[in-house]
Amino acid sequence: MKKISVIIFFVLLININNFSPSFAETIYNNAKCVKGNCMNGEGVLNFPNGKKYTGSFKKGLFNGTGSLLWDNYKYNGEYKNGKRDGYGKMIYSSGAIYEGYYKDSKHHGEGFFSQSGIIYKGTYEYGNFHGEGTLTFPSGVVEKGQFVKSKFIRKVEKIAPRSNSIILPVQINIVQVNKGNLISITTNETIENVKADINYANYLWKDTGFYFKIIDIKNTDAVIPKDFQKKMKWIKKTNFKKSNESDKLNKYTRKLFNHKKYRNKKAINIYYYLPDLLQPKGFKCGWASMKSKKDRWVVLPLPYVDCPLGSWGLAHEFGHVLGIHHVGKEGKDLMAETGWGKNIPISEVSTALKFYEKNLNHLK
Ligand SMILES: [Zn+2]
Repeated sequence: MKKISVIIFFVLLININNFSPSFAETIYNNAKCVKGNCMNGEGVLNFPNGKKYTGSFKKGLFNGTGSLLWDNYKYNGEYKNGKRDGYGKMIYSSGAIYEGYYKDSKHHGEGFFSQSGIIYKGTYEYGNFHGEGTLTFPSGVVEKGQFVKSKFIRKVEKIAPRSNSIILPVQINIVQVNKGNLISITTNETIENVKADINYANYLWKDTGFYFKIIDIKNTDAVIPKDFQKKMKWIKKTNFKKSNESDKLNKYTRKLFNHKKYRNKKAINIYYYLPDLLQPKGFKCGWASMKSKKDRWVVLPLPYVDCPLGSWGLAHEFGHVLGIHHVGKEGKDLMAETGWGKNIPISEVSTALKFYEKNLNHLK
């Protein structure tokens, strides 16, 4: 299980981009022009609760350079038709900072974002990390690569198994849902992302002698129980610290993903699921079932919105599949409970080898 402070970083990133006030209404309903011209020209507009805008207006909308003091942030920068557009700097009350280009009030173009000691520097496309960028972690680890819709696609050539590698067959089960508001359908992009995940996991594992090989990518159906809402309430409020709670979650997950029907007994099964189906508090970026030695499976969320660093998550879960429990230092080691390191010490590799020989060699 992988609890990550990184989540906060991305949740914040997503929320930031949701705020786009309709100032035409705000002017007339809640705000008061206290200085200058707040329709066309320079002015100061006061909002209730101390919120305040100082800057240029055009047709009653923020336009040009301005400074906005809002509930949870302070923005200094450019606007166009009431939206952040051009260069700007945003300081959040949480301590997060964004400096860079905006379009349609979203991060777009070159930018820098810092939160909880994690820094992203690179290009954005409508709020997502997109293109070239680097992530710097508090430990000093720097990951440089290519991002597509906030999903890290490391710029590595396709990792191939070495001649003496232990090949671990992997079956990908993409859980399909098409019911009410729960809709998840596999696209080519999903498949590309899944393949990139496996490739990145192999990149991190490349010096260990293990190689994860996709043998099948399948669409599978979810079995949504009648008391789904009740189950979701339980999942959201339980912290899964107690082992019986984790057992209950595993049992529910197996049913939900039709595990018996779809699992491939000759492979490690990965279930990619819609986050709405299953979002346990604290470890929604994936977990591995370590319960049965012969039945190893990994659960990972789609479509990467909440877990753009899913590639690390998968590599970490593979460690659990190979019998490794949480060890090491945050931000440095792959098998630390939190953080996104890539270190896999020799001692862990020998644990994995022993576990494989004893429990997993039926996967040959
Ligand atoms: Zn874990």
